[in-house]
Amino acid sequence: GIHFKSYAEMSVSVKDGPPGLTPIVSFDDAGLDSVVLENVKRMEFPEPTPIQRNALPILMQNYDLMACAQTGSGKTAAFLVPTISKLVSKIFKGQLATIRRRPGQAAWKATPLVLIILPTRELAIQIFEEARRFTYMTPLRPVVIYGGAESRVQKEQIQKGCDILVATPGRLKDMVERGIVSLARVRVAILDEADRMLDMGFEPQIRQIMMSSDLARDEGRQTLMFSATFPRDIQTLAREFLKEDFCRLRVGRIGGTTSLIKQN
Ligand code: ADP
Ligand code: MG
Repeated sequence: GIHFKSYAEMSVSVKDGPPGLTPIVSFDDAGLDSVVLENVKRMEFPEPTPIQRNALPILMQNYDLMACAQTGSGKTAAFLVPTISKLVSKIFKGQLATIRRRPGQAAWKATPLVLIILPTRELAIQIFEEARRFTYMTPLRPVVIYGGAESRVQKEQIQKGCDILVATPGRLKDMVERGIVSLARVRVAILDEADRMLDMGFEPQIRQIMMSSDLARDEGRQTLMFSATFPRDIQTLAREFLKEDFCRLRVGRIGGTTSLIKQN
């Protein structure tokens, strides 16, 4: 089973978030779409972690967010659950459509609604698997792309439909440049493990993607950054990529690597 260290020991700091922010106590309180809530329940999480308690209401209210919390604190569900829930609600209300390639249609570009950029193939696959669980029984189709694997197979996956694209920077840039993916419909852009991406030298690729005309600063787009540490260069990127009123959320000891969620 899973057990937790006392969350009471953890400090939570929220700056510039929605006024009167009330952290959720249970996933039931987050106002999630019912299909997505079912998917969360299937994960059998005993309760939301501190980052999830705070990030869910912030993201459900469409704020841009720079979140910093140690590895193992549940950051993936903190961004996937509200993001998927909001899109599913819009699709069910007819306010947003998933676009699929028609049979035989030659010129077709995938136009993902969510873009998640991460530094490594392992992380990309892990977040993709989680996205699959949270999108179960919804119209959203996640796809993962990364370097060091044949891009033909990934292109085939993309062309079956791609609403949530989980990608490493180099392969993403390549797929955009080859006209396989267009970022023109991205409603939520997420940089996960932002500190590691900078450590690995991905800053030029990330900057190029985030500043491209397709993904230009757009009032209707939400941008999120997640990181385990909060060095100066991350703060600089946050100011560059996020809306002026973005929310800053920090949980626990910064820069720690111990998992908060221990498996017995
Ligand atoms: P981080 O991105 O902060 O390093 P992850 O999102 O990868 O952390 O989560 C670490 C592990 O904890 C994963 O196996 C995930 O399924 C699990 N987890 C996430 N949220 C919860 C929760 N509320 N309760 C129990 N386990 C959780
Ligand atoms: Mg993570």
